[in-house]
Amino acid sequence: MRATAYHFQTLKEDPSDAEVASHRLMLRAGLIRRLGAGIYNQMPLGLRVIRKVEAIIREEMNAAGAIELSMPVVQPAELWQETGRWEKMGAELLRFQDRHGRDFVVQPTSEEVITDIARQELKSWKQLPKNFYQIQTKFRDERRPRFGVMRGREFIMKDAYSFDKDVVSAERSYDRMFACYCKIFDRLGLGYRAVAADTGAIGGSRSHEFQVIAETGEDALVYSTDSDFAANLELAEALSLLPSRAEPSQAMQQVATPGLARCEQVANLLGLGLDQTVKSIVLAVEPEEPEGIAKGARLFLLLIRGDHELNEVKVGKLDGLTNGFRFASVEEIVQGFGCEPGYLGPVGLASEIEVIADRTVAQMANFVVGANTKDFHLSGVNWGRDLAEPSRVADIRNVVEGDPSPDGKGELRIERGIEVGHVFYLGTKYSEAMKATLLDETGKPRLMEMGCYGIGVTRIVGAAIEQNHDERGIIWPVALAPFAVVICPLGASKSQPVREAAEKAYATLAQAGLEVLLDDRDERPGAMFADWELIGIPVRVTIGERSLKEGRLELLKRRGMQASDCAEEDLLEAVRRLLSS
Ligand code: ATP
Ligand code: MG
Repeated sequence: MRATAYHFQTLKEDPSDAEVASHRLMLRAGLIRRLGAGIYNQMPLGLRVIRKVEAIIREEMNAAGAIELSMPVVQPAELWQETGRWEKMGAELLRFQDRHGRDFVVQPTSEEVITDIARQELKSWKQLPKNFYQIQTKFRDERRPRFGVMRGREFIMKDAYSFDKDVVSAERSYDRMFACYCKIFDRLGLGYRAVAADTGAIGGSRSHEFQVIAETGEDALVYSTDSDFAANLELAEALSLLPSRAEPSQAMQQVATPGLARCEQVANLLGLGLDQTVKSIVLAVEPEEPEGIAKGARLFLLLIRGDHELNEVKVGKLDGLTNGFRFASVEEIVQGFGCEPGYLGPVGLASEIEVIADRTVAQMANFVVGANTKDFHLSGVNWGRDLAEPSRVADIRNVVEGDPSPDGKGELRIERGIEVGHVFYLGTKYSEAMKATLLDETGKPRLMEMGCYGIGVTRIVGAAIEQNHDERGIIWPVALAPFAVVICPLGASKSQPVREAAEKAYATLAQAGLEVLLDDRDERPGAMFADWELIGIPVRVTIGERSLKEGRLELLKRRGMQASDCAEEDLLEAVRRLLSS
């Protein structure tokens, strides 16, 4: 490709609205242009990268036995009503009506449509297992689109759906996809980690996120120093940090803490560590009463150590809280505790309020809690002596760095990641809702076992840049680069030998099947180089009159900005070597 026959437009200035490197660099390098919030044009260079990602995904999915098809972007509401997601999905699901007033959605994912296909096409266990996939445009009306294509509203996803006759077979399908994803992300040249993820209501352990490790990632990944334990923060189990409870050694005392509502402030005042304080969090669950009988929400007091944070996903799995909870209002708290928030605690509490203590809190002794009196706390509090043992002990906090690994091997570490893929065992959630059955070996109808498997194609482009850039611009992994090589002739308009050598180099590389660009714009060397360093082409061949006189061409490897040179006739070999090193 000749640069003058192609189209790309770089920007000198940093765009003001780009918070992360990948967003900034994609705009500056001219890969994308913003059309609206979370909606981008994929410009020619950007689209080439997307096609690379898609090609690798397609090859590996096909190799794993998955079968490509394509489902419409616009889908009738009826199918979404069948599974209940029409109501449940909230504002993220883009709904609209056609000219006849019929409801439709723009697909955010395609479980409904694929299950509809499956129930019509798959009738017998003999047809299974099957795994269908598509690489298709998705729309999610994200609350906060940001980071360019990483959290867009319109984006491209590869979504796959497996159908199996039983759980054992479904597990095999899941494992096959897991292995396939590892191959895909290896080939993409990304540093990633597969972490166990929450399965929500479905249960079981079969959900993994594939996370590209990056400081700007929105997710927290937890892993062990000494084992292969890896989970996202939502799921990672927190053990008690105290092996056993110490004997009470202090008397319970009411201490004045005027205006000090936070654990840090109280600990400071009392000269104690934050780990001697206990935080009180009040949650409310709406009552399931028949209409007409207005009754207040049921309150729960959750206790975690002062230096810990509540994990709402874990809380949502506790009996009594699985159908949704919220933080209690000030009025509800005042009514239940006789005191405003900031000075709450479990001592002397009305029995209607259930106390749920985190595992660590349940082992604490001589701790500090609110006194349920404004401007007062209690110190030297001990379970069993000053208040009843907690009625429930549960894991309700986020793990922190240094916690023991839940498998007993090593300590936990936390790093940030960008979720680029997700594999999920669905069980019969959709096949049950949509009555997708097949006849098993004994001729009996049976619900199909399903799995779903997503990869964020456009998000991968952003994630790859987060991992591969420097102050000059993008440094593409060779597998993703829009072009492998760029040829930069210096002063071509004034030098026939340079022009000829550039054409010759271009022909040599192109004929060998390399994706090569010839920069024939006749720009100043500095401007030319800056563009290609920003765009991140892995190898640059510079052709200048002086070195040409000695029959040599200059080479630059973008990663590490390593310069070298080669004889004109060795160009192909030298470029290939740089691309594979
Ligand atoms: P997130 O937690 O980041 O919103 P999700 O759990 O909603 O992701 P899935 O429904 O599992 O994501 O979708 C599969 C994949 O699609 C994700 O792993 C991610 O790579 C990609 N993806 C999801 N939402 C977006 C988005 N708004 N923009 C770009 N890619 C996305
Ligand atoms: Mg999401």
